[in-house]
Amino acid sequence: MSAPITQDVLTIPRKLPETGRTNIVGLTRDELRDVLIAAGTPEKQAKMRVGQVWQWIYHWGVRDFAGMTNLAKDYRALLAENFEISLPEIVTRQISEDGTRKYLVRIAGGHEVETVYIPEEGRGTLCVSSQVGCTLTCSFCHTGTQKLVRNLTAGEIVGQLLLARDDLGEWPVQGAPKDEARLVSNIVLMGMGEPLYNFDAVRDAMKVCMDNEGLSLSRRRITLSTSGVVPEIARTAEEIGCQLAVSFHATTDEVRNVLVPINKRWNIQTLLDALRDYPRLSNSERITFEYVMLAGVNDSDADAHRLVELIRGIPAKINLIPFNEWPGAPYKRSSNNRIHAFADIVYKAGYASPIRTPRGEDIMAACGQLKSATERGRKSKAQIAAEAAG
Ligand code: SAH
Ligand code: SF4
Repeated sequence: MSAPITQDVLTIPRKLPETGRTNIVGLTRDELRDVLIAAGTPEKQAKMRVGQVWQWIYHWGVRDFAGMTNLAKDYRALLAENFEISLPEIVTRQISEDGTRKYLVRIAGGHEVETVYIPEEGRGTLCVSSQVGCTLTCSFCHTGTQKLVRNLTAGEIVGQLLLARDDLGEWPVQGAPKDEARLVSNIVLMGMGEPLYNFDAVRDAMKVCMDNEGLSLSRRRITLSTSGVVPEIARTAEEIGCQLAVSFHATTDEVRNVLVPINKRWNIQTLLDALRDYPRLSNSERITFEYVMLAGVNDSDADAHRLVELIRGIPAKINLIPFNEWPGAPYKRSSNNRIHAFADIVYKAGYASPIRTPRGEDIMAACGQLKSATERGRKSKAQIAAEAAG
């Protein structure tokens, strides 16, 4: 069996069925311009209006048109008639002993995804989902046991950042001194789903997050993690420009075929060739190789030596992830001694080899543990389509 390239996914209409209004969140600047003109904004004013609305939503965190006080009352009314500023809804929020916050978020159609906020010394990282479920079936990943339900829209991806900032109270107050420390300073596309199988929405969402008049996150503070969708890797650099992480996890095709089955379509050598060609690759913008440590499966000294041989010549760091166990998982986490011995070999070969500290374990918020309601995962595509239509 080989991994699918295209998917049978449901698309969400831009006009919200309940209200007939268009949700502005997640539209690119060009799209916003088009819809403002279609709603009656004179073309000559369109660029200025885009800038104003954009700043209110993404810089000030305003959620209704009435609050956009530099716009004329009539224009605010026109906006309110035609548009919405709507975010996915937080269903539950769990806060771990270590401060990690896991949000269960409901999106259109009643589907749920998870978003995780991880506060660290000097920075805060938001782990964002790009799909409900995943088409891929990595054998160590909890999300991989759930079928793909649908791709998230750009608005639902940006919405995860907006709702986290709402929850953390992170919007500037007009007139107050500028506070440089940001609570959400980084984004990792490491939640549920394979971001490169939802390329356009992920790209548009990240463009909104990077825009300087709004959320203003630097492309260097955004990391997209892929299991190895080779044909989309170069586009990631060209069209998004963010940092890249690759779920490598094994040093032979035999083992990687089992752990990351997309390897059967694009094997280790093909993947490495694509990474060698990754535009902008330099020592300051290295590729992160994620490597989950599974006892007795991929964690031997020989694996460590093979790993550094394979990636030779690629500016890289190797992020060792102690396996996060989930109920029924077919693997065990490697021992601390084993992980450190592995890290040591990689480090001595000249690569940074940080060991990722599991965060939010008490609330199942750690890497790869994210998963929405399991019964949904077992529904057939036909059932899901029928529900969405009805
Ligand atoms: N689909 C993308 C991004 C989401 S997964 C990808 O596969 O890269 C984010 C990271 O968590 C990946 O490196 C993934 O391999 C890893 N991961 C998944 N399940 C895990 C688990 N149970 N323990 C540790 N890491 C896991
Ligand atoms: Fe999907 Fe990534 Fe999990 Fe693999 S590791 S099943 S690609 S979410």
